[in-house]
Amino acid sequence: MKLFDLHCDTLLRCYLENCGLCRNDGHLDLEKMERGGALAQCFAIFLPFEGLLRDGRRLRPYELFQDIHRLYEREMEQNAGRIAPTRTLQELKAHQAAGVISSVLTVEDGALLEGRLERVKELYEKGVRMLTLTWNYDNCIGSPNSAKPVEHAKGLKLFGFQVLEEMERLGMVVDVSHLSEGGFWDVARVSRKPFVASHSCARALCDHPRNLTDAQLRALADHGGVVGVNYNAEFLRCNSKRTCVDDILRHVEYMLQVAGSDAVALGSDFDGITCELELADYGETGKLVQALAHRYPDFLVEKICCQNALRVLKDCLGRRNDQ
Ligand SMILES: [Zn+2]
Repeated sequence: MKLFDLHCDTLLRCYLENCGLCRNDGHLDLEKMERGGALAQCFAIFLPFEGLLRDGRRLRPYELFQDIHRLYEREMEQNAGRIAPTRTLQELKAHQAAGVISSVLTVEDGALLEGRLERVKELYEKGVRMLTLTWNYDNCIGSPNSAKPVEHAKGLKLFGFQVLEEMERLGMVVDVSHLSEGGFWDVARVSRKPFVASHSCARALCDHPRNLTDAQLRALADHGGVVGVNYNAEFLRCNSKRTCVDDILRHVEYMLQVAGSDAVALGSDFDGITCELELADYGETGKLVQALAHRYPDFLVEKICCQNALRVLKDCLGRRNDQ
């Protein structure tokens, strides 16, 4: 079974720990991906909102992005033949035919835009194909998820709507994981293309504001989008510190029932989560695939593991005809 995982934070880990993609002590490296059966991986450049102290200097999210992007390009070059940057569906197909894993570059936290619309195009030209609009802080695009109802109801800012329009024009995937519920509904209202929640779970099963309500899951599905199930224990089961395969299955099953078979995908959040995991790392994803295969027919397992995410890329990438 080939896998397409919509979110990991491995690049920041490589940056902070001076380790490489080829082999490291984290959740995800090339060896583990090859063992797990990776077809494609979304690699997020996660940007801490307050920036990062590096060599005595505080790097703003935008500066940090440049640094991690250089690391990313270096890694892609050094590991050419095993993994390759992927900007179009045609590239993905070519990599698949050559037995090379596809890397889709994403950015987590639109704060790096700093209110400058031209930066969306700059990201696009640097190969970024998905943007997680917010992380857990207010930014120039919108507001984050919150346990406080007033905060959670906050919608997108004016600049946020402009960003959506520009992303749609260029052909980038909008990611609403971490976004406020008000922001989510703004995206749902104006988006003409599918959008995703790259790493979120079902709120009905675990009442955490990072998770999606039934209405949100249905709206994602209605737009042709997907939700990537997150392996983080506290999103799967309240107050849990350990993720079992069964916890992931419970959310997959529920989301299939509520949103349908076209709307569920994988969004591990590997290297971004610190809980204990029954799937210790990417290399053990086979345990999840086996459990899915035990429960569902092959075509459905394929949809969850890969085909649904592929379809969203196909529908979102590529510029609008008027460009
Ligand atoms: Zn995240």
